Amino acid sequence: MTHWGHPGWFAYFPSNSSPPSVLGELLSAGLGAQCMSWETSPAATELEQTVMDWYRQLLRLPEGFTGVIQDTASSATLVAFLTAREHAGVDPGRLVAYWSSEAHSSIPKAARIAGIAIAQRRIVPVDRDFAMQPDVLAQMTAADRAQGLVPGIVVATMGTTSSTACDPLRQIGEIAQQAGAWYHIDAAYAGSAAIVPEVRPRLDGVELADSMVTNPHKWLLTNFDCSAYFVRDVNALLQTFSILPEYLRTRHDADSAAVNFRDWGIPLGRRFRALKLWFVLRSYGAEAIRTMIRGHIQLGHDLAGWVDAEPEFERLAPAPLALVCLRHVPPALAGDETALAAHNAALMARVNAGGAVHLTHTTLAGKYAIRVAIGSFRTERRHVAEVWRIIRDAAR
Ligand SMILES: *Cc1c(COP(=O)(O)O)cnc(C)c1O
Repeated sequence: MTHWGHPGWFAYFPSNSSPPSVLGELLSAGLGAQCMSWETSPAATELEQTVMDWYRQLLRLPEGFTGVIQDTASSATLVAFLTAREHAGVDPGRLVAYWSSEAHSSIPKAARIAGIAIAQRRIVPVDRDFAMQPDVLAQMTAADRAQGLVPGIVVATMGTTSSTACDPLRQIGEIAQQAGAWYHIDAAYAGSAAIVPEVRPRLDGVELADSMVTNPHKWLLTNFDCSAYFVRDVNALLQTFSILPEYLRTRHDADSAAVNFRDWGIPLGRRFRALKLWFVLRSYGAEAIRTMIRGHIQLGHDLAGWVDAEPEFERLAPAPLALVCLRHVPPALAGDETALAAHNAALMARVNAGGAVHLTHTTLAGKYAIRVAIGSFRTERRHVAEVWRIIRDAAR
C-alpha cells in the first residue's frame, strides 16, 4: 500500500487526512447516521447546512450560493451536467458542452454519462500557460448558436490537474451567460486554497457560476470522501433530482425549511460527511488551515526556484500553487522530445522504485513532465529538499 498521507507523497494531488477528521469519521460510523432526509436526523442535515455555509464564507462565495456535500468532484460535475441538461429544457441532441483541452477526465466522463455525444463536445484550446482561451470559446458558442445548436454547459477549471493552470473565470462566465449556458467551475484541488486571501483573486468571477465544486478531501485536511458542491439556484437541483414516492414522504415535505439532501444529487442514502469537516474546521480554525496552505505554496515556490537554478532541469509550466512540473534535459538529448520522454519516464521510475517518495507525470504541450505536488499534511521543507535531492541523484 502506498500511503497518500506520507510526507513523501508528491504524486497526483494530496488527499489529506488529519486526526480530527479521522475521529469525525469514526464517530459518524459509530452513530450509523444515514442522512437521506431531515426527518430521521435534523442534526445531520442542519450540521451539513451550517458547515457548508461556513465553507462558503471562508471561500467568500456570494450569499446566494448554497452548498451540499457530494462524494467526489466527479459526481458533483455529473450533477452539474444533468442539471444543465434538465435546465436547458431542449432535446439533449441539440445541447453543446464546452471545456478546455486541460480539463480533468471527469468532465468528458460526465458528458458521456449525460448523453452529450462526441459531436456535441467542444474542446477549447489553451494559451501558453495552459489556461482556456476565452475568445475561442466565444467563437465556438456563436458558431454553434448560428447552427441552431444550444450551448448547454461551459466548464472552467481553477487549478488544472496537469499544471494547476487557472482559467479566466470572469471572462468565461460572461461568455457562458451571454450564450445562455450553465456555468460550472471545477476547482476540485485548488478551490480550498481560496480561503487564503492572496489566492482568492484566482476565483474572481466565481459569482457568475451556476455551480462550483471543490474537494475538502484534497487540501482541507478532511479524509476521503468529501466534496463540496455549491449552487446558485437550489431549485434547478431539486427540479432535476427530486422524485417523491409514497414511501419517502414525511410530515415535513411541505415545509420548505426542512431540507432533504436526497433531492440534491444522485444517491438516496447519504453518509454523514459533514461531521468530519465540522471537526476539522472547529479543531484547527480557519487561520491554522490558511497557514498550512500558505506553507505548502511557499514550498512549491521554493522548489520552482531550485529547479530554475539548475541548468540541466527545465520547468514546464508556471507554478502558481504548490505543484511543480519539471523535466531533466541532459545536453545530449536536448531537442529530441521522444528521447527526453523516455529518459524522464525512466528517471521517475527509478525515483519511485526507491520507495522514499512517490511521483506521477503528465504531458504539457506534448512534453513529458514529472509532477511534484506538495501538500500532504505532514510534508515539511526537509521532505521537499529530499525529493529534489532524490530526483537530481537519479538524473545523475
Ligand atoms: C482531483 C480532481 C478531480 C476529480 O476529483 P474526484 O473527487 O476524485 O472525483 C476533478 N477535477 C480536478 C481539477 C481535480 O484536480
